[in-house]
Formats: sequence, structure tokens, C-alpha cells
Amino acid sequence: MKELIILGSTGSIGTQSLEVAKAQNIRVRALTAGSNHKLLEEQARQFKPDVVALSDISAAKQLKIALGDTDIKVLSGEEGIIEAATYKGETVLSSIVGIAGLRPTLAAIECGKNIALANKETMVTGGTIVNKLAKEKGVKILPVDSEHSAIFQSLQGALEGSLKKILLTASGGPFFNKTREELKNVTAKDALKHPNWSMGAKITIDSATLMNKGLEVIEAVHLFGVKASDIEVLVHRQSIVHSGVEFSDGAVIAQLGTPDMKIPIQYALTYPERGVKFENLDLFKIGTLTFEKPDLDTFRCLPLCIEAINKGGLYPTAVNGANEESVRLFLEGKIGFLQIAELNEKAMEKAVNKTDYTVEDIFEADLQARETVLKACGII
Ligand code: NDP
Ligand code: MG
Repeated sequence: MKELIILGSTGSIGTQSLEVAKAQNIRVRALTAGSNHKLLEEQARQFKPDVVALSDISAAKQLKIALGDTDIKVLSGEEGIIEAATYKGETVLSSIVGIAGLRPTLAAIECGKNIALANKETMVTGGTIVNKLAKEKGVKILPVDSEHSAIFQSLQGALEGSLKKILLTASGGPFFNKTREELKNVTAKDALKHPNWSMGAKITIDSATLMNKGLEVIEAVHLFGVKASDIEVLVHRQSIVHSGVEFSDGAVIAQLGTPDMKIPIQYALTYPERGVKFENLDLFKIGTLTFEKPDLDTFRCLPLCIEAINKGGLYPTAVNGANEESVRLFLEGKIGFLQIAELNEKAMEKAVNKTDYTVEDIFEADLQARETVLKACGII
């Protein structure tokens, strides 16, 4: 039986991963979250892991009391998450949100565990280090992000050197076709209404700004060893074609499916085998599939991410760190929607780059970018 550790089990990806684990009869060894001790307790009672961890120390104390009648070990803080990430089990599903996922994911790779990767910020900030370590340790990085899973699936059986272009699809989010004027006063509530996918708050805002697509371009550069200029972003409103690849002879192979994250989660957990069917794709019902160019003047976060990966080094970390902060401020109603891109751009301008960098340098650059955002808003 396969054994699994889920980092971020109380989130959108985490809860769906538990559904897949149940359907696939996968033994869950460890579960972690941030502060949601109530849901983690429920999950622990249902899935009976050996270990659970919460990064929030006071929430972990409450969980320890709640699970006092069980043998489940309760850990806390970032060290606790890392201990859980390196516990028994051959695969770690990395679905913490943000750069907080980087250290636990690296620790799991260091221990030789295969990674089912949802946490794109890990690749965006630490892609070079992650790839090097994964190669050294002989571990697989299996994409969970639906577009990257689609690209990975489309590349099965492809000969080296035959890939010419990646076709990265984007839903366009809730504000597709809106002008900058119309976007001035949109609220977090408007931005959280994603047309096709139900996801955590941060990635839903990233989908509305197209930052998510920008982060995915960077993620694809690291996962598939291509240049950003080899990636074409297509707005595909139906979210049925999850992405594809073009080969040297002009043939295009893509993966289609219902917008259900359980499909890519399951593929990463059962690869190279295929699992069970959760939902049927009825192409007759969908009827039409459309593809359009993204509006790069209105949705500035996408070209900003492309600029960051082209510059390389710590620029992707800077734009990501600034974005984590500006999205938080937007969700708290402290800044407007268009300010997200403006603040991210400011942090890019102020970023200090290094080409040869360590994990500590990444966290330093992340902190600097966050400070630039907070200073620009007059918060510090
Ligand atoms: P959610 O916000 O729904 O869940 C995030 C999870 O991470 C929760 O379990 C949360 O715990 C935990 N967490 C948050 N902060 C910390 C921290 N500092 N330390 C440890 N754990 C923490 O996010 P999603 O599931 O939507 O997204 C997770 C990742 O997957 C993101 O990187 C996202 O970009 C990526 N992804 C998500 C998709 C989706 O459909 N949702 C699709 C493709 C990629 P708590 O509940 O206690 O706060
Ligand atoms: Mg995606």
C-alpha cells in the first residue's frame, strides 16, 4: 500500500487529496496545516495518521488536548511541519499556500521522498535549488497544478528534443474583458467569484489578476526546462483544455477534462497508473471551445512574472513575495485591485539580485519585497 504525507491538508487541494487517498486506499501517515485545528482534528480522527502538525503554536496546543485520547503525535511550528514532512511515507503532497511551503518541501526531497507538487510558490522561488536537489536524491517531482499536469501528461512518451512549445491555458478569471477603469473599484468579494474553479482565497485572487498564470509560466520553466519565450498563454474560458504541447512537426497534444483538481491530484499520486473516474466530461454539453490572447496591458502581473523569470536569480522570489503581501492587503480591504500589480512592480524595481543564491538568500529577498510593499502603503 502507498503511504502519503499531506502538507496543507485543511486547504482546497489538501481536502481533495484526502478524497483521492480514500478512493485509492492510500495510507495517510502525516497531515499538516497552519491554524485550523478543528478540521485537522476531524481529518486525524478519520484518516488516523501517526503524526499531525500545525504551524500555529497555540492552535497546536488545542489540537494536542483534543487528540489526547488517541496515539497521534501532535507537532508545532515550522520545525513540526518539517518533522511531519520527513516522516514515514514515500510521497509528500505539497499543498501549503505560499513560500511557507518551500522549506518543508526541500526537507522532504532531502529525505528522498517523491513530491506531488501543488505549491507553485515553491518552484517559483526555489525552482533551481529544488531541481538540483531532486536530481541528486533521485526523487520525482510530479505536478499537481492542473496546467502542468496536463503538460506532463501530454509529454508522456515524447522523445527528448521534440517539444517545441508549451500551450498554457488560462480561464481569464472573473474579470476577463474588463477595462482598467472598470477594475478600479472591484472588491475582494467580486474577485473571489471564480467562474470555473473552487480554490483557496490567495490563488483565486491570483487568477483574477493573472498573477497565477505568471507564476505558472515560471513554474513551467522549472518543471519542463523551457524558456518563457517557448510558452504561449491562451485564455480559454471553458477550462476544459487544461494545457498542451506542440512538437517539432507541428502536432499538438493536449489534455482535456472537467475542471476538477482530483484528476491531476490522482494522476500525481498513482503515476504512471491511472486511477478512478470522478466525473464524466461531456463534450456535447460543452459544445464550443474558445481561445483568445490575454490582455497584458490590463493584467500587468502576467508580463511582470515573465520579466522576472527572464531576469532570473531572485527576481521571481521578489515578485512572488510582493504578491503574497499585496494579495493579503487586498483581501483585508486595505488596497485596491489595480494596486496589486503596481506594488508587485515596485518590489521588482527595488529587488537586489544574486545569480548564485542559497535558500537563506531566497527568504531574505522575500522579506525585502514584502517590506517594499508595506512601506509603499505607509504601513511600516
Ligand atoms: P488553501 O488556502 O485552501 O490551503 C492552504 C493550506 O496551507 C491550508 O491547509 C493551510 O492551513 C496551510 N497553511 C497556510 N499557511 C501555512 C503556513 N504558514 N504553514 C503551514 N501551513 C500553512 O490553498 P489551496 O489549497 O487553494 O492552494 C494550495 C497550493 O496549491 C497553493 O500554492 C496554490 O497555488 C496551489 N494550487 C491550488 C489549486 C486549487 O485548486 N486550489 C490549483 C493549483 C495549484 P489552515 O487551513 O490552517 O490555514
Ligand atoms: Mg493552475
